[in-house]
Amino acid sequence: MSTARLILATRNAHKVTELRAILADAGLDFELVGADAYPEIPDVRETGVTFAENALLKAHTLASATGLPAVADDSGLSVDVLGGAPGIFSARWAGTHGDDRANLELLLAQLGDIEEPHRGAHFACAAALALPDGTERVVEGRLTGTLRHAPAGSGGFGYDPILQPLGETRTCAEMPAEEKNAISHRGEAFRALAPVIKELLN
Ligand code: IMP
Repeated sequence: MSTARLILATRNAHKVTELRAILADAGLDFELVGADAYPEIPDVRETGVTFAENALLKAHTLASATGLPAVADDSGLSVDVLGGAPGIFSARWAGTHGDDRANLELLLAQLGDIEEPHRGAHFACAAALALPDGTERVVEGRLTGTLRHAPAGSGGFGYDPILQPLGETRTCAEMPAEEKNAISHRGEAFRALAPVIKELLN
C-alpha cells in the first residue's frame, strides 16, 4: 500500500519539517509535501477576519486545487490591552508585509506607557484540515506571556524578542528553537490536529 499524501499550505520549509515531526510522533504515516510542490497554484488572498477563517481558506483552496487533503495554519500576536490586535494584521502592523523590525517597534511605541500587569499577550495559531469533498476541521493553540519594554535575544522571528512566556525569564528569541517549538502556539495547534487527521483520514 502506498503512503497517503497530505499537503501543507506553506512555502516555509521549517513549518513542513515541524509538522512532519509532530505527525510522526503521533504515529501517523503520511507523505507530507509543502505547497512548493505545486508552484502553479497561486497564493491565497487572506480575506478572513480570524486566524481560523484564514487557515480554513488556505486549506480549502489547496485541497480543491490538488484533490489532496490539505493542512494550513494562520498565526499572529494578540495583545490584551489592544483588544487582540495586531491579530490577523501581525505580519503588516507597521504597513509593509513581513517587516518584522518595524512591526515590533511600532507595537513597543504604542505600549510605551502601559505598565507590567497590563502587558499580557499571546501568540495564537489556528491549524485547519480540509478534504477535497469540503469536510473541514480547525483547532487552535496559544503561547501566553507578557510583553517586554525592549527587545531581547537574537533567535526566532517576528515578535519573539518581546514575548516572554509565562513562567519564563527569557523571551522567545532567547530560547533555543527546540525549546520554543515545544511550547509554541503552532506546535500546540499541530499536535491537536494530529488526532483529527487520524480520525478523518486513516
Ligand atoms: P504567519 O501565520 O506565519 O504568516 O505569521 C503571521 C505573523 O505573526 C508573523 O509575520 C509574525 O509577525 C507573527 N508571528 C506568528 N507566529 C510567531 C512566532 O512564533 N513568533 C513571533 N512572531 C510570530
